[in-house]
Amino acid sequence: MRKVLESRIPELVELEGLIEKLGPEARVNVLAEIPYEDHVFPIHSIEIGSEDPTSPCFTMVGGVHGLERIGSMVVISTLRTVIELLSWDQTLKDRLAHSRLIFVPILNPVGMFRRSRSNGNNVDLMRNAPVFSEEATRFLYGGHRLSPKIPFYRGALADGMEVENQVLFDFLKERVLPAKVSICLDVHSGFGADDRLWFPYARTKKPFPYFVEAYAFRELLNKTYPNHAYAVEPQSIQYTTHGDFWDYLFDVHFENKTDQFFFPLTLELGSWKWIRKNPKQILGALGVFNPILPHRQARVLRDQKTFMDFLHRAVLSSDWIKMNDEQRNIWRFEALNLWFNGSHNVAC
Ligand SMILES: [Zn+2]
Repeated sequence: MRKVLESRIPELVELEGLIEKLGPEARVNVLAEIPYEDHVFPIHSIEIGSEDPTSPCFTMVGGVHGLERIGSMVVISTLRTVIELLSWDQTLKDRLAHSRLIFVPILNPVGMFRRSRSNGNNVDLMRNAPVFSEEATRFLYGGHRLSPKIPFYRGALADGMEVENQVLFDFLKERVLPAKVSICLDVHSGFGADDRLWFPYARTKKPFPYFVEAYAFRELLNKTYPNHAYAVEPQSIQYTTHGDFWDYLFDVHFENKTDQFFFPLTLELGSWKWIRKNPKQILGALGVFNPILPHRQARVLRDQKTFMDFLHRAVLSSDWIKMNDEQRNIWRFEALNLWFNGSHNVAC
């Protein structure tokens, strides 16, 4: 049994090894156990730092799509670094006394085990939330209810959200949405040249309520790390979909918020740079979405480290979301021009 897991889903074996090393400052939960064939697969959450659910919080989610294993690897690698730092770095301990890091490294373990994008019910978890796109979505790719045999299946309407999404939703609603400031990063990979950093919405091309803060975030990143390689943009610039989980959670936050700030981001690592240097890898299903050669994998994991630390700092020191009216008006204008064709048809 262990041998099967080690060969089919080594990320889960690695994660469980790391969980054993966690100290008392970490709280570990099994959000759900998903049965598939002869196995039962846990979905772990790990919360480190302050116990106060209103404290600033940076959350990482990986493995939503089972083929995009590099996403889980990035989350697990960050967790590993945090565990090691906690054994000697007083500055990180001080930061975590009044903030939190949350990890859900493998949301779709069955998809990873069976090497499919979707979960064990053939449902695409990023098309499965109760959200309907207001735009014409790409045929099939935008999410459909034609057949579970066709990729990008949303699941039957009557079935609601899949267990993986429901437990993630319940957990984030309880532990993340109450935070004064929180950023969630969901790590994926796709067939593209660049690393893209998407904020909502996926369902509409209209600006989401925090688009000026998204612009402020981009400015903060540009100024702090001028050589970073992320394209910061609303997801709808690339494509629109039905059923996006982060659209759904954001709307729940925005309907109920008092003065919390919740900023979900999706990191889509572009696979073209790995494929270009190793074209043979495109022949395997995993090769389209992951760096296969060990030194390239190491490079991806190394490259993301600075950014993860930046996101933790950005929730702790959040003056960047507090703009005076003049600054807000300037950035609002610039953001509309950059991302929304200058459209001023904004409800917020
Ligand atoms: Zn994905």
